[in-house]
Parts: sequence; structure tokens; C-alpha cells
Amino acid sequence: MKNLTTIKEIISLLKANTKDFAPTLVDYIIKKYGKDPYLILISCILSLRAKDSSTIHICDDLFSVAKTPQEILKLKQDKLEKIIYKSGFYKTKAKNIINITKIILEKYNGKVPKNKEDLLGMPGIGLKTANLVLSQAYNIPAICVDTHVHRISNRLGLIKTKTPENTELALQKIIPEEYWTDLNNFLVKWGQNICTPVSPKCSICKINKYCDKVGVTKSR
Ligand code: SF4
Repeated sequence: MKNLTTIKEIISLLKANTKDFAPTLVDYIIKKYGKDPYLILISCILSLRAKDSSTIHICDDLFSVAKTPQEILKLKQDKLEKIIYKSGFYKTKAKNIINITKIILEKYNGKVPKNKEDLLGMPGIGLKTANLVLSQAYNIPAICVDTHVHRISNRLGLIKTKTPENTELALQKIIPEEYWTDLNNFLVKWGQNICTPVSPKCSICKINKYCDKVGVTKSR
């Protein structure tokens, strides 16, 4: 268990030491296309079980052809599949994108809903995507727990959880709300560059002295 001072120090070090790393997918989308909730949502769906680096190109391919709910629907499923075929599970993703877009147009007047319940009620949207949309598109405090956030929080010894759902709840209890929105960004970059899934780079890790290295059997 870490105290609040240590948690704040860890977050501060992560912030300072991730600013020169390559942008996350959502950073890239916001920088290139603005804070558009629909594009953030679609990019997040495309990123599921895929690497940010390849998803960036797939998003650019898609958004160069269609950027609004109306334009995406006009593509129809087969054309959408052709554009995003390099993404894993592209058929399911295309189907979900079409269905989500129909719901957004028919039920929410063309706007991505601003609350977790409505987002989770749409096909293919889980907690991770809902929280990313709320925090990044709408500045609503939410902790988006992906594989990096789950892994690093447990390795550090901040929490002890088995599932991303429990990680979100556990982190909400110990992380002040003002840090919720940025936590995903810092930990995704840390996970992609330093605290990698296999053999993390502990010898150069700036938060090493605060880390319990839970479950780390091999490191560099
Ligand atoms: S010390 Fe190692 S296990 Fe801990 S956060 Fe850093 S890279 Fe990850």
C-alpha cells in the first residue's frame, strides 16, 4: 500500500518522463482531428486488441474517407471492412461501428452520449472505451483501465487486483480525482516504452524506487 505522497510523486515522475514519448492513439487523434467525441470513440473501437502504431494508420485511412456519423453510414459495412481490414477482428469492428453509428444518429441526435450507462449500452463498447471517451472527449473524470494500466498498477504494488474492472474501482479509491483523466496516458506510454509486458526496463525506470515489482521475474 502506498501513501498519497508517494502516489503523487509517482504520477509526477510519470508525467515528467513521458512527455517526449510517442503520442498515444487518443493524443494523436485529438491533435490531428480535434476533440471530436465520435472520432475518439471510433478510434478506440479500432484500437481494441491492436497496437496504437498500426491503428493510427487505419484511423487516418478511414477518416480521410469518412469522418462524421452520416459519412460512415454511407460507406456501408462491406466498404468499411475493406478500409479497416488491417485491423484485427475487422469484421466485428465494422459491424459494431455501423450499429453504434445508427444508435448515435437515431437515439442521441448524432451526438456521442456523455454518460457511462448510455455508452455501455451500445454494441462493442466496454468500460475501457466508455471511460476513454468520457475522460478524453468530455473531460469527465474517469480512469480508463487498459492492459498497461492494469499491469503497471499491480506491479507497482498500488493495488492487488485480477481484473481491469476491479483495477478501476481500486484505483478510484487511492488516486485523487484530479489525476484520473491523465493516468491512462502516462501509464500507456510507460507500458509501451519502459514497463513492457515481458522483461520491463527496471534498470532505467524513474519510478523504480517506489515499485514493488510484483510478479516481475525477469527485467532489464
Ligand atoms: S521498476 Fe520495473 S516493474 Fe516497476 S514500474 Fe519500473 S519498469 Fe515497471
